[in-house]
Amino acid sequence: MNSIELKSRAKINLSIDVLGKRQDGYHLVEMIMQTIDLSDVLRIKESDTEDIVIKSNSGDIPLDDNNIVYKAITLLREKFNINKGIEVFIEKNIPVAAGMAGGSSNAAAVLVGLNKVWDLGLSEKELQEIGLALGADVPFCISGGAALAQGIGEELTYIKGLSEDVIILICKPNLFVSTKDVYGGLDLNNIDNRPDNRYLIECLKNKDIKAVAENMVNVLEGVTSNMHSEISEIEKMMIDNNALGAMMSGSGPTVFGLFNNKEDALNAKKELMKKYEQVYLVNSSERGIEVNG
Ligand code: ATP
Repeated sequence: MNSIELKSRAKINLSIDVLGKRQDGYHLVEMIMQTIDLSDVLRIKESDTEDIVIKSNSGDIPLDDNNIVYKAITLLREKFNINKGIEVFIEKNIPVAAGMAGGSSNAAAVLVGLNKVWDLGLSEKELQEIGLALGADVPFCISGGAALAQGIGEELTYIKGLSEDVIILICKPNLFVSTKDVYGGLDLNNIDNRPDNRYLIECLKNKDIKAVAENMVNVLEGVTSNMHSEISEIEKMMIDNNALGAMMSGSGPTVFGLFNNKEDALNAKKELMKKYEQVYLVNSSERGIEVNG
């Protein structure tokens, strides 16, 4: 029986700009995405029934057809007329509903994994086209690395990302943020501070991490931090411990800080762990999905 194990990595945003809204409700964005080496592990195996079975070590995600993994399997089965059963175990390490695309990355891993298990012979580009139906972030999660994402997030221009020696401190406060509410709370006619993505891309290319850190802007941050004081509190704790810059990822509530000094990052982590449980020190990664073994 065919089986595969994959790493399904999270992302952070080094910038987010929202340019408008489409008729269908999707927002038009321009943002820099960066894969980080914080990952879930997905173990996918064929079963001898026709069922789709999802299991997980996490109590925070649905295990029925509301799980995006279930949707990804269904989509591929329908598209390629396959009725084989699949069992997936999701080992969750990426905080859920955090602004780190954990779900989108799991969907991406399923597409990459089943492409191999079922020998579909799809190229990465074809997988990305299929993945878009599951979510705007799925195409990026399939490739990973670093990219400027435009359109609704699916038009990707790959760029040089953070080098692997930059230390990224992640802190997810224990509160729930609805992506829909955050986008809904953004006044598109009243955004006063937008990221200069061209400049950020140039700084990344020149490995000028200080300039990257100092020029990161997420236009959604004001909306989320108005609802939750933890966002600016965490940023302050990071900056007080010599982070080069700190910002919210996605629609939040995860906050990350960039450090060039390991000791400073460790001190900041220690400080944050007095109040928050989900705190991680990570690096960037050049791949979104990776087959284990
Ligand atoms: P994004 O950055 O793409 O907005 P996110 O990090 O904010 O994503 P996710 O962790 O992907 O959010 O979860 C969003 C919602 O999707 C959660 O409420 C969760 O219950 C649901 N969900 C369904 N399947 C999954 C999955 N495999 N992993 C995580 N969440 C899932």
